[in-house]
Order: sequence, then structure tokens, then C-alpha cells
Amino acid sequence: MSRFLNSKYNNLAPYVPGEQPQDQQYVKLNTNESPFPPSRAAVYRAARAAERLQLYSDPDCRALAEKLAARLAEDSELPLTEGNVIITNGSDEVLNFAFMTFCGSEKPAVFPDITYGFYPVFADMNGVPYREIPLDDELRIRPADYMCAGGTLFIANPNAHTGVALSRDEIEEILRGNPDDLVVVDEAYVDFGAESSLPLLGKYDNLLVVQTFSKSRSLAGARLGFGVASEEIIRDLNTIRFSTNPYNVNAMTMEAGIGVLEEEDYIRRNCEAIIVNRRYVQEQLKAMGFELTDSVANFIFMKHPTVDGGRIYEEMKKRGVLIRHFTKERMAQYNRVTIGSREQMDIFLTVLGEVIEELK
Ligand code: PMP
Repeated sequence: MSRFLNSKYNNLAPYVPGEQPQDQQYVKLNTNESPFPPSRAAVYRAARAAERLQLYSDPDCRALAEKLAARLAEDSELPLTEGNVIITNGSDEVLNFAFMTFCGSEKPAVFPDITYGFYPVFADMNGVPYREIPLDDELRIRPADYMCAGGTLFIANPNAHTGVALSRDEIEEILRGNPDDLVVVDEAYVDFGAESSLPLLGKYDNLLVVQTFSKSRSLAGARLGFGVASEEIIRDLNTIRFSTNPYNVNAMTMEAGIGVLEEEDYIRRNCEAIIVNRRYVQEQLKAMGFELTDSVANFIFMKHPTVDGGRIYEEMKKRGVLIRHFTKERMAQYNRVTIGSREQMDIFLTVLGEVIEELK
């Protein structure tokens, strides 16, 4: 570190994104990206927007916010408008804004011990104390453990790494059990088989739903996410956004987002394909003796009864298949594998079979 670093960051351990090695061509199943390219309308609109890049982007992202709010209103059967939506540079940004806006030394953050690894980093970065609530022995969130949690809650649903989802009723239980605290439900993976909590916005004013265009909507590289909540909550978040970076979403990305919303059948078909591939991989892995969490996301979380998770990861990488291994306690025996195309998954299964034979 340089001698100029603000001492409050001396011990900050930054988030480590999934590796992107360039030394060879990998079957890349480590960052939960979509195997499908963006919709044609998204690409076309982004390219058109590039011709006007001499101008700043719209700080209100109005064209996208209106279209998105209309779509969310239809899905949730609620009168949502653009005043209920904040659009951000990936959903990481709205999550960071939530830590900045709704947490502090008096208001800790609360989240599971196994979840999205960025939550503790956002907390540390913003000087926010946090409490981790252990998942149960089957790596599930127990809503009963989150009653009167005493802080701003962050619940990834489906949960990160395990892929296990709570039902809408279970999320409602958590909202009811924390009437004076905000509950942030991070729905990055909701489109692959879980229930969205959006309809609960009609009944609860302590809910912020966060979604992303990075996974089901095939725009990870564009960086586009959003939050949906009461107008008051969105206004608070916008105060922080306008105090940080009002042009947080670039013009090409905003247009790409509109393009995604114009071709939603394409997104739906892609999600269905991922779900089919996930079931196929789950069956094959069970037949190979792997233990799996009950994932409804675009990834699976797998553990072999005898072979070490770290060794599996290393051997797969040597053979050109990238999967994600976490060293944190309780996760070290597991690997997380993104569900890609059928062709990618067949390569993964074949290579995994070879690796297990060798390491057994
Ligand atoms: N939430 C969860 C649970 C995630 O796994 C991710 C992806 N790493 C994100 C949010 C952030 O995704 P993005 O910033 O690409 O929207």
C-alpha cells in the first residue's frame, strides 16, 4: 500500500471476482454468465447509441426506467412507476448504495454466513458492522432465524452459491418479523425457477427488491442492474447515487437494456433451456455420487463424498474447465458450477468423470 492510503482502508480485503485466465480457451463455468448472446435488439440499440457518445447519458435513465417499471407493474400486478425504480451499474452498485444508504454504525447489516461474498466487503468498505446468521445443516436459510434481526437484512434469493430459494411466503415471514428494518432481497438468479418477491411491495414498505440484467438477460458485460421499492426508498437511494455518480449507467447500456425488454420471449426461452440443462446435470451428478443442494439457479453447488473440492477444481482447470471453488469454512468441499449450453455441460461431465476416476 502507498503511504497516501486512507488508514480506514488498511485492512480492507477487496471482493475477488471469478478468475478470467487468458492462457488458453476454457469452458467457462465459474461466473454464472449466460451461454447465450444478448438479444439482437440489445446489440442493435447499443450500437446505435455508440454513435451519440459525445453526449452524457441520461442520469434518470428515463426511457429504460419507464419501460422496466411498466413490465414490473404487469408482473407484480402493482401500480409501479419509474419512481419505484433505480437503475444502476450492475446490481452490485445498487447493493452498495443500499449499504451506504440504509446501514451504519447504529444500523448493522445482517446476512447468512454463506451467501454473496460481496456483502461483507460492502459492509467493510462502508464501515458497517455486520452479523452473519449460519445456514442450517442442509445449507438452507431458516426464516425463523431472521426474526427481529436488528439490522438491515440482505437475503439473496435464490441464495448465492447454494442456489436454494425461499418461497414468497417465507420472505413475507421475514418482512413481517422485521417491520422496522429494511429487507433487501437480491434476486440475481430469480428467473431460473424461484418466486419473485415483487408482489410483496404492495403490502410491505420495508422491502427493496434487487435484480440484474447480467444473468438471465445476457448482459453481464454491459453492467446493468436495478432496485424496486417504495418511492421514499428509491429517493433515498437516488440521493446517494447523485452524490456519487449521476451518470452511473452509460448510454449504450441503457439502450441494450431497452432492447432486452423488447425481446423477452428470447430471454424466456433461454431460461427454459438453462432449467432443462440444470436438471440434466443434476441427474448425471447424482448418478456419479455427488451431493447437491436443491438449486433453482443457473448454477449447481456440488460436493463429492470422498474427493476434495479444491482438488477437483484444480484438476478441472488443468483440463480446460473452469468452475468456482470457495475456501471459506463449510464451503471448502463444494464447487459451484454455472449451467451453460448442453454442449458445455457434456464437456464438463466428461472431464469431471475423468477427474473423479483419477482422484478417487
Ligand atoms: N447478487 C448476487 C447474488 C450475485 O451472485 C451477483 C453476481 N456476482 C450479483 C448480485 C451482482 O451481479 P451484477 O453486478 O452483475 O448485476
